Amino acid sequence: MHAGTDVAVPTGTPLVAVLDGVVSEVSRGSAGLVVRYQTALGRVSCMHLDSLAPRIVVGATVSGGEVIGATGQSGNVTGPHLHLELRPIGASSSVDPLPFFPAERVA
Ligand SMILES: [Zn+2]
Repeated sequence: MHAGTDVAVPTGTPLVAVLDGVVSEVSRGSAGLVVRYQTALGRVSCMHLDSLAPRIVVGATVSGGEVIGATGQSGNVTGPHLHLELRPIGASSSVDPLPFFPAERVA
């Protein structure tokens, strides 16, 4: 099972917020460095990151198009990539996010 989209990019590629939102979680675990933020469409998750901008903490606002960190290969991965998910409002699991996001902000 793999709920989301993997975007293969080199470590250090700028991570851009796809939508306006508010950071709800910053954590480290098997998915590496993770940031989640709540948007009008649902919760966006970005995993296996290399770094986050210092201001990206729980409660911080993000703006669509803003660089919020850098992609990487933290956690359980076989190579550098961004794992990107959207859990729509009210849904119990995440979906393929690409149809929901502005194309110029993905990959
Ligand atoms: Zn993935």
